[in-house]
Amino acid sequence: MATQAPSGRILVVEDEESISQPFAEALRRAGFEALVTATAAGALELAASEEPDLVMLDLALPDGDGRDVCRELRRHSDVPIMMLTARGTEMDKIVGLELGADDYVVKPFSAAEVISRIRAVLRRSNRGDDSRESREKPVQIGELELDPGARIARIDGSELDLSRKEFDLLAELMRHAGQVVRREDLMSEVWDTNWFGSTKTLDVHIGWLRRKLGDDPADPTYIETVRGVGFRFAAPGVEEP
Ligand code: CA
Repeated sequence: MATQAPSGRILVVEDEESISQPFAEALRRAGFEALVTATAAGALELAASEEPDLVMLDLALPDGDGRDVCRELRRHSDVPIMMLTARGTEMDKIVGLELGADDYVVKPFSAAEVISRIRAVLRRSNRGDDSRESREKPVQIGELELDPGARIARIDGSELDLSRKEFDLLAELMRHAGQVVRREDLMSEVWDTNWFGSTKTLDVHIGWLRRKLGDDPADPTYIETVRGVGFRFAAPGVEEP
């Protein structure tokens, strides 16, 4: 039943047909395979049976909450998830990301803009064996050990349970250990080359990463905030240049 999907298979979970239908059409015109469902139940079913490359997930669905769907998907899968939120609901964005979503889109949105973000997300998640990560050697700084190829991070020998974004952020900061990495460089490296939104998302993810590292934001061991500029990875024992 599955057809050739040159650019990827996108699952659109949205109960407003005035949004899902034209957007699915735009996706197909752009060379994607688009699957549409209006319900939370349909989302879980299609995610399992069709293995989409990316899920766009509305927050308010007729039979459930998009956040529960997101949480459920994350239990089994690392598929990129973009939450669809109503305008001006900042909390929804934060909550959506906290559940393991990769990005969010505020409705109403421009199909062209969202498709370019989808392409960027897919580029990041589909990097093949020749990607920089797989060629990179493991690094150890202080008690932290990072293996970019295996995508494993350990602290004191025990593996950290990091989301994809948290891992990418940590890897980027450790690559430049001792140096300040600018906010916009982190955004473009970890999220999207054409990032146009706010960098609030970055702070949220840095917050979770710190929590998992056991880092106190007021007196961090690993990730220092350089106000107005960015962040610096400064592990104990690493001399600042
Ligand atoms: Ca809805």
